[in-house]
Amino acid sequence: MGGESTRAELIETLRRHVRDERVLRAIAAVPRDRFVTEAHAHDAWANEALPIGGGQTISQPLVVAHMCELLDIQPGERVLDVGTGSGYHAAVLTALGAHVWTIERDPELSRWAEENLRAVRARRVTLLTGDGSRGWPQGAPWDAINVAASARGEIPPALIDQLAVGGRLVLPVGDELVLVRRRDDGTLDRRGAGGVRFVPLIEE
Ligand code: SAM
Repeated sequence: MGGESTRAELIETLRRHVRDERVLRAIAAVPRDRFVTEAHAHDAWANEALPIGGGQTISQPLVVAHMCELLDIQPGERVLDVGTGSGYHAAVLTALGAHVWTIERDPELSRWAEENLRAVRARRVTLLTGDGSRGWPQGAPWDAINVAASARGEIPPALIDQLAVGGRLVLPVGDELVLVRRRDDGTLDRRGAGGVRFVPLIEE
C-alpha cells in the first residue's frame, strides 16, 4: 500500500540533499496542506510540484528548500518573491525570519494566496499584483530576490538593478537555476546551481 506522505517523511527526504537545518525547520513549520487545492490535498506532503489552477504549480519542496539555501536568508532581511502562486514559498521565506514582498501577475491567484497566508497566520508578508519581472522598485534595494518562474534567455535587468550590495538573486534561466550575488564593490558574481523545470516568467 502506498499511502500519503507525512511531514516527517518529507523532511527525511529533503535532509538527504539539504544541509541547512534552518531551511529544514522552516519547511517543517509551514503547513503545505494549506497551500494546495482540495484535489491534491492527499499529496500535500509529497516531494512533488502540484497543479494549483490556471496552468500554474506549487513548486516541489526540494526546489523551494534548495532556493532558500542558496539565498542564505538572515532574520530581518527584506526579500522580494516573484511568482506568489499559492503563497507557499513566501511562507517558507517568512519562516526563515524574512520580511517578504511577494508579487503575482494573476490577481485571482494572489487573492487565493492571501487567504492561504492568512490561514497559516504568516506574518511579515505583503502581497502585490503586477509584473514581477520588473521587480518592485518602491521596495528596492532588496537583500534577496527569489524568482519562481523561468526567465527566457537572460535575467531581467530590473531584478539585478534592485539588488542591494551583498544581495542575492536566485532564479531559473531556461532550465538552469542561477545564483547572482552583488559583491561589496558592486560587481556581480554569477553561478549555475543545477537543473530545474519551472513555468515561464511572463515579461510584459
Ligand atoms: N511560488 C509559488 C508557490 O509557492 O506556490 C509557485 C510559483 S509558480 C511555479 C509561478 C508563478 O509565477 C505563477 O503563479 C505565475 O502566475 C507567476 N508569474 C509568471 N510570470 C510572472 C510575472 N512576470 N510576475 C509575477 N508573477 C509571475
